Amino acid sequence: MEQVILINCKPQTFFGNMYHDAVCRRAGACFCRQELTRSASGKKVQQKWPKGFHVFGKSQSEPLPKAVLYLEDVQAALQSGWLKSFDVPTTPSVLSE
Ligand SMILES: [Zn+2]
Repeated sequence: MEQVILINCKPQTFFGNMYHDAVCRRAGACFCRQELTRSASGKKVQQKWPKGFHVFGKSQSEPLPKAVLYLEDVQAALQSGWLKSFDVPTTPSVLSE
């Protein structure tokens, strides 16, 4: 899976949510918190809660699935210069000895 690191250029922390339709579907993996609940009719339904993420001010995020770049909030922040994104190299970081 391709990953990106988001760099926060402002002092304010950036908060985002990895919405299933925007991120999971594109990434081909589900990051949501899943919960079994019962509907009014007593049927079991699986509810998905999007995984939240944040980038502290003047700091950088953990590697995130590249699909976060499709989130509207992230796109707006990239355009306004709040965030910058860098691709994480896909080659393994562990060097063979
Ligand atoms: Zn999901």
